Amino acid sequence: MRIYLSRPHMSGNEERRVAEAFASNFVAPLGPQLDAFEASMRDYLKADVHCVGLSSGSAALHLALRIAGVGLGDEVWISSMTFAGGIFPVNYLSATPRFFDLSPKSWTVDTTLLAEELGKAAAEKRLPKAIVPTDLYGQSADLDVLEELAARYGVRLIVDSAESLGASYKNGRKAGTAGDAAILSFNGNKIITTSGGGMLITKHKAWADEARFLATQARDAAPHYEHSTFGYNYRLSNICAAIGLGQLEVLDSRVARRREIFDRYDAALARPGIAFMPEPEGHHSTRWLTALTIEPDETGVTCRDIHQMLLEHEIEARPLWKPMHMQPLYAGAPYHGSGFDERLFANGLCLPSGSDMTDEQQDEVIERVTGLLDSRR
Ligand SMILES: *Cc1c(COP(=O)(O)O)cnc(C)c1O
Repeated sequence: MRIYLSRPHMSGNEERRVAEAFASNFVAPLGPQLDAFEASMRDYLKADVHCVGLSSGSAALHLALRIAGVGLGDEVWISSMTFAGGIFPVNYLSATPRFFDLSPKSWTVDTTLLAEELGKAAAEKRLPKAIVPTDLYGQSADLDVLEELAARYGVRLIVDSAESLGASYKNGRKAGTAGDAAILSFNGNKIITTSGGGMLITKHKAWADEARFLATQARDAAPHYEHSTFGYNYRLSNICAAIGLGQLEVLDSRVARRREIFDRYDAALARPGIAFMPEPEGHHSTRWLTALTIEPDETGVTCRDIHQMLLEHEIEARPLWKPMHMQPLYAGAPYHGSGFDERLFANGLCLPSGSDMTDEQQDEVIERVTGLLDSRR
């Protein structure tokens, strides 16, 4: 049987929740399951925030950026190493991205670099409209520093927490609760899924109200359809929210399982030339995907060799995200950094990490990887 990178893992509760929605005929986009999902998320996050269920994480980022006032000619400062859905909304708004490298200590955005560049930009009166750090592979960015910088320079902070739901940062602060807003994704490969979906989390009630308005075709209060601006059809369907309700009940056990999988890889594959994504003091990553680098000079193997070998055995793995400043689409876009993210891409791999993977399946992955490494020693 094929071993997947990260696939949907249902608990059994989801079907019952969907059946409840069907029984009441709330198959329409809005309904009680959506309200309950938003309320349950708020309870889970244990913070004074508003939650708006949306059709995807990218839709959530699009709305957050638009509400932050991002438009033609504005800059958005963003981690270069991210997934396309975490950057394309900048293009939807005709704004310009400026890309930042990661810190080797956390594999999240380098806040020292960001602080330096904000200082220069402030002096030259060219500050960005918003900063969008990515919580990479299940780990929160350095939120305290980012919030302090955003406040100091008066720029909006929108945290891309699509990969980090279930993680926490210093003092148990949950991923998704920082900044002006954060976005979540419930795509099929994420730690929990609604089949497809996302959420905007914000501490500003006005932002949540605006997001709901824009996500339902910007209908002004009138008996007929009246529009003073344009909107989108971006709400999460009530049926998908029902799946999310079932998934949220098991989120913490999914996090525990992903961390267990990470720890087994870490113990089994540790050797010179292999480095796993670090988890800085005070962080509690979900280890959504086990991410590691393989130094060819030290191991005699490249991450591409391992990837290819695994594919031949029906085992799905994936290179780390290709930094956006290396993508043809963003050729020539400004980038700040030493190329740490480029080296991660050159030598990095994500191993199968799904919470439904069995120990036997993981043993097979480990045996095949160690087999290749041992053969090159
Ligand atoms: C998955 C993901 C998104 C986008 O979410 P969708 O629901 O697929 O639109 C955005 N940013 C990051 C970092 C992601 O991993």
